[in-house]
Amino acid sequence: MKTDVKKIFGSNVFNDAVMKERLPKAAYKKMKATIEAGAELDPEVADIVAHEMKEWALEKGATHFTHWFQPLTGITAEKHDAFIDPQGDGTTLLRFSGKELIKGEPDASSFPSGGLRATFEARGYTAWDCTSPAFIKETPHSTILCIPTAFCSYKGEALDKKTPLLRSMQALDVQAIRILRLFGNKTAKHVTTSVGAEQEYFLVDKGNFLKRKDLIFTGRTLFGAMPPKGQEMDDHYFGVIPERVLGFMEKFNEELWKLGISAKTQHNEVAPAQHEIAPIYDQNNIATDHNQLVMETAQRVADELGLKCLLHEKPFAGINGSGKHNNWSMCTDEGENLLDPGETPHENMQFLLFLAAILRAVDEHADLLRLSASTPGNDHRLGANEAPPAIISVFLGEQLEDVVEQFVDNGEATSSLEGEEYISGVHSLPHFQKDATDRNRTSPFAFTGNKFEFRMVGSTQSIADPNTVLNTIVAEVLCDMADKLEAAEDLPMALHDMIKDTIAAHKRIIFNGNGYSDEWVAEAERRGLPNIKCMVDAVPALVKPEAVEIFEKHGVYTKAEMESRAEVMYETYSKTINIEALTMIDMAKKQIVPATIKYQTSLAESVNAIKAASSAVDTSVQEALMADISTNLKDMYAALAHLEEVAGKAEAMEEGAEQGHYYHDVVFAAMDELRKPADKLEMLVAKSAWPFPSYGDLIFEV
Ligand code: ADP
Ligand code: MG
Repeated sequence: MKTDVKKIFGSNVFNDAVMKERLPKAAYKKMKATIEAGAELDPEVADIVAHEMKEWALEKGATHFTHWFQPLTGITAEKHDAFIDPQGDGTTLLRFSGKELIKGEPDASSFPSGGLRATFEARGYTAWDCTSPAFIKETPHSTILCIPTAFCSYKGEALDKKTPLLRSMQALDVQAIRILRLFGNKTAKHVTTSVGAEQEYFLVDKGNFLKRKDLIFTGRTLFGAMPPKGQEMDDHYFGVIPERVLGFMEKFNEELWKLGISAKTQHNEVAPAQHEIAPIYDQNNIATDHNQLVMETAQRVADELGLKCLLHEKPFAGINGSGKHNNWSMCTDEGENLLDPGETPHENMQFLLFLAAILRAVDEHADLLRLSASTPGNDHRLGANEAPPAIISVFLGEQLEDVVEQFVDNGEATSSLEGEEYISGVHSLPHFQKDATDRNRTSPFAFTGNKFEFRMVGSTQSIADPNTVLNTIVAEVLCDMADKLEAAEDLPMALHDMIKDTIAAHKRIIFNGNGYSDEWVAEAERRGLPNIKCMVDAVPALVKPEAVEIFEKHGVYTKAEMESRAEVMYETYSKTINIEALTMIDMAKKQIVPATIKYQTSLAESVNAIKAASSAVDTSVQEALMADISTNLKDMYAALAHLEEVAGKAEAMEEGAEQGHYYHDVVFAAMDELRKPADKLEMLVAKSAWPFPSYGDLIFEV
């Protein structure tokens, strides 16, 4: 089957082209003004748009619409409503009004709110985000018109991830425009952030998946001995993609293209069974919606094809986990990328000012960035020897580092390094100009040509949080800079000094070396950079007074909204570890212990049978194996009892920071202790007797 990509691309999206074609000219114009300039939408236009949207959706086979939103669970939510409007004579019309398009009233009481809303105050509202186009979600069993929305409480507090993100985009827009005006740009109306999210995932066989309760309940393996082969041969990264996986990718791409998601790049990742997809970047909120759809679609398509897609940050101990590279830049409505250094960055004062602002923002608010990438799963990655360290630093690359150094050493920069010519030594190979800078794979925050790549983000996460933080901290620094520069008497001088002084004050955040090395951990400590090791340690950054002040100042979060998010994070952490602990207990008690005892019995029976048959035959191997198994079984049983005890204690504690820390320090540690003897047993017990598929089965049977 060959796909007509041009035909299907965006075919399920109520995009600009569709609106232009279907809406009356005047309505289209007003709609555009709302989307592009945030003009208020008049109710009449909303009615016209709703009607056309419905007609279009009906043509596509939709029967229902939903306000599609992103609560604090980090995934998406939808409640379907049919278009029907019964007429009282046994027939129905199909209707969809402007009011229904603009506002929804889902019951909010069962979504996490972190205390923002008492359960008896159930009312919540969803409000249409018309800057992200409506789309049709088509699955084998349903066709639903989805309207991207923001979700808030009766009192107007944001109960979702979308609202703060949109607010942060506005904040950055305002402040970046102020800076552009200082550089004489009088025409740009808006600055938006562009984001491209690279998504890593694993694919495993569905049959194997369904035999593992840990994967079913927690998304990661809680037991599992290392297979004889892992990723040590480096033969998976960019390797030939297996047929079955290619089949998945083909269908996956097709589904994404229909949704107007520009799925562009796909390849094998470092670990066996690990892959990556990257769409082309888009406006921040659209990229965020799209990433949610990427995750959801990957899971659905895999399931349809007898596979399971694991999005967890660390599905398997001992091999690489998954992350999400959040590529971020700022762009004007005139198409100027503010992070494009040009050929000679040392002369590009505007670029250098934005660069300096970002360095300062990242240095001053490293803890908030770290927080924004915190999930229970990401705790397994950050700081482990495969992912960016938990320490935030910025990689600039040789060319910019050189410019920065000139500023620090001489108070100005007078030259920029150029990319050299690529010479392979083979006449028939093309010669070309190399980039001025090599890549760095270990930096958590890397400049990559004309964008920054925030690489700490976890693979399960909504990218709303990291971008909300990024936009806000950069807006805050730009605001401070604009305040000072607008008051300056000699602007060129003030600009020059600001770049120089900012770079000098924040150069400690720049690190171009190997972020995985122990030396860096020591060096970062000398530099005074925070090294926040786990999610529960990261949460307090969100509610410290300086953070509250900034988020309130730029209208991104209220104090109550921030406190609620901190609470939700502690809760999420505790609940996650609790489910993991209970799953381990369940698997250990109901599967591993019985299977081991059964195998042990078969060994004993074998010994008895052999001895009965002939006293001359040596049974010492069986007996040694039995002894070995007994020792580990005993250790395991003790560890199991301990885990049950501490998990019970944790569950009885009051929700909050203390409980979160207890789960991390005590329960999580006890889980580790249970895993060790269990994994040893897996190596001692016959494969046919082990109660679930091994690591080898999971990662090499796709
Ligand atoms: P890699 O990280 O492997 O070098 P690419 O350079 O192809 O990959 O880009 C990765 C992601 O960054 C893609 O989603 C791409 O669209 C996105 N990207 C490219 N340019 C920008 C930009 N100016 N702003 C934001 N994202 C960008
Ligand atoms: Mg990348």
